[in-house]
Amino acid sequence: MSQAYNFSAGPAMLPREVLEKMQSELLDYGKAKASVMEISHRGADFMELAQKSEQDLRDLMGIPNNFKVLFLQGGASAQFSMVPINLLRGKNIASYAHTGHWSKKAIAEAKRYCDVNVVTDSSENKYTDIDDFSNWNIDANSAYLHYTPNETIAGLEFDYTPEVDIPLVADMSSTILSRPIDVSKYGVIYAGAQKNIGPAGLTIVIVREDLIGKVVENQPILFNYETQSTNDSMYNTPSTFAWYAAGRVFEWLKEKGGVEGMAKINQSKAQKLYSVIDESDFYSNPVAVKYRSWMNVPFILADDSLDKLFLEKAYEANLLALKGHRSVGGMRASIYNAMPESGIDALINFMKAFEKEHA
Ligand SMILES: *Cc1c(COP(=O)(O)O)cnc(C)c1O
Repeated sequence: MSQAYNFSAGPAMLPREVLEKMQSELLDYGKAKASVMEISHRGADFMELAQKSEQDLRDLMGIPNNFKVLFLQGGASAQFSMVPINLLRGKNIASYAHTGHWSKKAIAEAKRYCDVNVVTDSSENKYTDIDDFSNWNIDANSAYLHYTPNETIAGLEFDYTPEVDIPLVADMSSTILSRPIDVSKYGVIYAGAQKNIGPAGLTIVIVREDLIGKVVENQPILFNYETQSTNDSMYNTPSTFAWYAAGRVFEWLKEKGGVEGMAKINQSKAQKLYSVIDESDFYSNPVAVKYRSWMNVPFILADDSLDKLFLEKAYEANLLALKGHRSVGGMRASIYNAMPESGIDALINFMKAFEKEHA
């Protein structure tokens, strides 16, 4: 197998140790005498896996006992609907921070259920900056405040948690487990697994218990947090393989020093890459320094006619999936937990050599 570094934004690379572990037990899981893909989610082997993976995630994130942890399907996009359905609780307005492509989508979906009060709008600066929190116009009648801690496309990440008196809801798809957070400050945290947790098909939802149980009427039963929570995420068949893989990633994270250990590595990885970009006139990143993402690093070549060649040569050098999102252009290096520091070094060496040859 090639030793390539995969910078895909999602589905993204998994830790090599985890892939190897899964390969070694693919045909024969635990005492099951069958693959983990082939066994009942209600059997002893899977139930044990489900419990352990939840406990490991609770340990990693320090999730308090008054929060439920759900292992769902439908991606983060299904949560764009489930959040208003479950959290409006009789109110008809919710506040949303509009800081990028994904918050924009969350807002559009919420508008199907309630009035949306947009507290801040970064579309005015092309998602390169966030207005100071003191200027946010939060409607006190709002059922909750929704924000996107890391906007995956523009590479715009909050370096703080907003403090509010209403439930705080966070789409953490591309930043969950990348650094420590205080879960008790949130009402709901959700994340599609395919960025920083595991394969696509699994969505983690962490929800404060007192917010469960007052759902908008006549909605799909699967979209009710209460259904999912009282059935331990097994009202219907869960995404068993993705759940298992996530469990293996949680074990790997614990071995690597947990989110504290990851945060140190992630910060150092990001700093290295941004400093190479900043030191050159050949590459640039437009995001306000304070809000630069540790996870998704977009960069533009001064001469965009070189984009195609850059990508071809990068692929030849085993540096994969660096093409930027079409709305931003240029390149984007997604450097989630699974990307080792050696991958950053390889990318930096390639970028410097490419600049030397073509500047
Ligand atoms: C990828 C992503 C989504 C969409 O996730 P799906 O699982 O495809 O629905 C939503 N929000 C953020 C921040 C993302 O990075």
